[in-house]
Amino acid sequence: MKKVFTDQNLSLVANAANILEHAGLSSELRNTYAGGASGGLAFNEVWPELWVADSSVAQAEQLLAVLAGVSGCDWTCPHCNESNGASFDLCWHCGRRHESSDKKV
Ligand SMILES: [Zn+2]
Repeated sequence: MKKVFTDQNLSLVANAANILEHAGLSSELRNTYAGGASGGLAFNEVWPELWVADSSVAQAEQLLAVLAGVSGCDWTCPHCNESNGASFDLCWHCGRRHESSDKKV
């Protein structure tokens, strides 16, 4: 088993577990109620943790990359060829919407 995700916010960790479950990976939530013991432990030792089998680590880490800060990779605008950061939904140069960001507005 290996820890693939941890956050102080239990709902984020539970969300990560759901993502893995939808992909067919089984995972195990640990430390879900250890927060009460935080007085004597380092803060990040009591965060909820998500663990998976060693054979699932690579796939799990790939799936959970979207939760680890900025999602996805930098992208190049197909219209003006400008390089844009992953956090931008619109091309900063020409304003075109990134194709993968099909959020309903
Ligand atoms: Zn552009």
